[in-house]
Amino acid sequence: MEDTSDIVVEHKIQDEQKKDSRLARCLGLLGGTAHLKISNKKVFADDVVKTDGPFYCPVCLSEVVVRKCTEKIDHFAHHARLSPVITYKDKELHDRCSNQILEYLQKLFPDGKWERERVIPANRDKLLKKIIPDISGRINNIPIAIEVQASSYTINRISTKVIEYQKRNPKVAVLYVVPLTKQLGDEPFRPRLYEKYLHSMFGGKVYYWTINNGSSLQPVHYSPVKRWIEETTWFDTELEEERTEGGFWLTYRTIKTPNYGQCVDIAKDFIKKDRKYFEPKNVKKSIPECTVYKDNLQDWWDKNEYKNLSKQLDIFNNAPKPDFIEHYKFLDEYDDEFCEDQNDATPFTKHL
Ligand SMILES: [Zn+2]
Repeated sequence: MEDTSDIVVEHKIQDEQKKDSRLARCLGLLGGTAHLKISNKKVFADDVVKTDGPFYCPVCLSEVVVRKCTEKIDHFAHHARLSPVITYKDKELHDRCSNQILEYLQKLFPDGKWERERVIPANRDKLLKKIIPDISGRINNIPIAIEVQASSYTINRISTKVIEYQKRNPKVAVLYVVPLTKQLGDEPFRPRLYEKYLHSMFGGKVYYWTINNGSSLQPVHYSPVKRWIEETTWFDTELEEERTEGGFWLTYRTIKTPNYGQCVDIAKDFIKKDRKYFEPKNVKKSIPECTVYKDNLQDWWDKNEYKNLSKQLDIFNNAPKPDFIEHYKFLDEYDDEFCEDQNDATPFTKHL
């Protein structure tokens, strides 16, 4: 008779692995293998211990950890720093961020009818749904909604809201603010899907707020960051020769480096702007046509950062890919079209 407890454990591990791949947005570890950083060798989770590491994922290049389970099935899991966003437990911080911004705008624009959680009613005849902006009011007669994002809000929720704002007459310009529990720092991190979504919606930046910032916001652009692939030499038994591969940098797929712009003031540095509809190539959720309230500063990042990435991929078009990176793909969500002028966007995905 089959031992059902084993099947239960196996399902539990599979669920855990699925969860990891969903959160990391990468299927690279589902086969139970990862690569050794020092030699690029493929290893099975069963055959290694933590001290054999570090390990990396062959698809997204993220650092991974080996999970040794007392329940028989070992596996690898992605391990990357996340931004310290607020969760449902940080309601006080959410309120503090909302109140600081509200009080500041009320002071500077006393005729702007600024309110927190004002109900904008539904209108069935006009097919309008009820919406409740976190903060809303007017600047120079432009209706503005400011949303203070908490981690539990999905991109569906963002999308539904901005569509409703766009249907109003006049259109409501929307600004998304992402409060953090502490500074983001300079180390690379893996933005969550909704951070990437906002990054694209706002032309290549996310507006973070931290407790000491008052009503000033920190725009952060997500720049690509690279992993050094060690050079490895081994004897290829098929070709009967010694081969050397590696010794180059490869760009991470989902990990980015925070690229800081100067802090911006909601009352002075922001303008209303139309955001075109955008259909990403590799994820389902499109960015609807909307009106954003965004800063009017010059972009501060290198516009060629993704062009350099195309060159990097060229090396694999002209040569066979080393075995240890055969599954590597640079295909990230929402990245290829954050540029204002879409003709400027580099079609690097055509290399894949
Ligand atoms: Zn991965």
